[in-house]
Amino acid sequence: MRLPLLSNWIGVLGPMAVDGLGRNIDYLRISVTDKCNFRCLYCMPDEGVPLLQHCDILTIEEIARFVRIGAEGGIKHIRITGGEPLVRKGIIDLIREIKQIPGIESIAMTTNAFGLAPVAQDFKDAGLDRINISLDTLDPEQFKYLTRRGTIDQVIEGIEASLAVGFDPVKINSVVIRALNQDFLGFAKLTMDKPLHVRFIEFMPVGHQSGINDTGWNETDVIPSDELRNIISDRAEAAGLGRLEAVDKDGKPAGNGPASYYKLPGAQGTIGFISSLSNHFCSTCNRLRLTADGYLRPCLFSDDEYCVREALRYGSDDDVKGVLANALEHKPDSHHYRVGTDRNMSKIGG
Ligand code: SAM
Ligand code: SF4
Repeated sequence: MRLPLLSNWIGVLGPMAVDGLGRNIDYLRISVTDKCNFRCLYCMPDEGVPLLQHCDILTIEEIARFVRIGAEGGIKHIRITGGEPLVRKGIIDLIREIKQIPGIESIAMTTNAFGLAPVAQDFKDAGLDRINISLDTLDPEQFKYLTRRGTIDQVIEGIEASLAVGFDPVKINSVVIRALNQDFLGFAKLTMDKPLHVRFIEFMPVGHQSGINDTGWNETDVIPSDELRNIISDRAEAAGLGRLEAVDKDGKPAGNGPASYYKLPGAQGTIGFISSLSNHFCSTCNRLRLTADGYLRPCLFSDDEYCVREALRYGSDDDVKGVLANALEHKPDSHHYRVGTDRNMSKIGG
């Protein structure tokens, strides 16, 4: 049952953003650009996607203003994503600015890490708390095939630099696609010697069926997390590393995501599973997305969006709060296993 709007912005509750179903929304994911230097097979077509007009993209100041207003209403955790955040001019300034906003407790970034190594310290100094690096394969040739642009060496350097400058935790995001037959044991081994947290993400049907952004999603390519956990345990055991063991609350790496965590005996890092499809977490979803062109997207899988750009550009704080409250009120109860969205992941901010 949908509740009457209980958000702080109409003064009914304390400093807490609550959606129309009573879920506490304190996590904002911001796509800072739709551009990317990679063309991952599952995310973007080789030729790229039609880019947004420069004038439609939120400025650094507009994004920071939105975060300030959101923080007044209960947003506490920020993730910077894209497209590729490292290609956005002014990204380090944005992080520095967001870090100083009262009420913001953490700021994290998801990146492909290409070109990260030389600037990792700058991100740390600006106040970035945590970093997630996307890496779907450890095989250089498969990496080239998958990203269509990148070289794995630079990504590995980015991971090493992130650890060296003291990011903690450093998480590796790995989208699992059956047809790719990735080296899951290789990823698991990474967690033995280094404090890395590898999270396997179920391949999601975002962008498919749009007619323009076909990412080629196919249900047979999804490996459900339970199946993958058994595959990794079996392979690790055969390699003499033991089986995965569940990690309790204290052993989990810090973060705001829905992953369930395990580890191999004696490992420094953990292995997480994000079951967006096989065991979805919609009932406890705490997130809201802001697209690079200034739309609030309450659900990754739904194309219902609420334009906040005009309010940010020409309106008062109350105008912005009004759009925010409306978006929260209409956050869907579940993704209902929807296949396909108009925007692909690079335009939503995965
Ligand atoms: N460019 C950055 C990166 O790759 O980390 C940030 C943006 S990317 C869209 C954010 C995350 O979404 C990446 O970890 C990527 O692997 C993931 N992603 C993209 N398309 C996906 C899909 N169809 N299913 C699951 N994850 C996906
Ligand atoms: Fe770029 Fe990230 Fe999409 Fe790959 S997943 S194409 S790196 S936005």
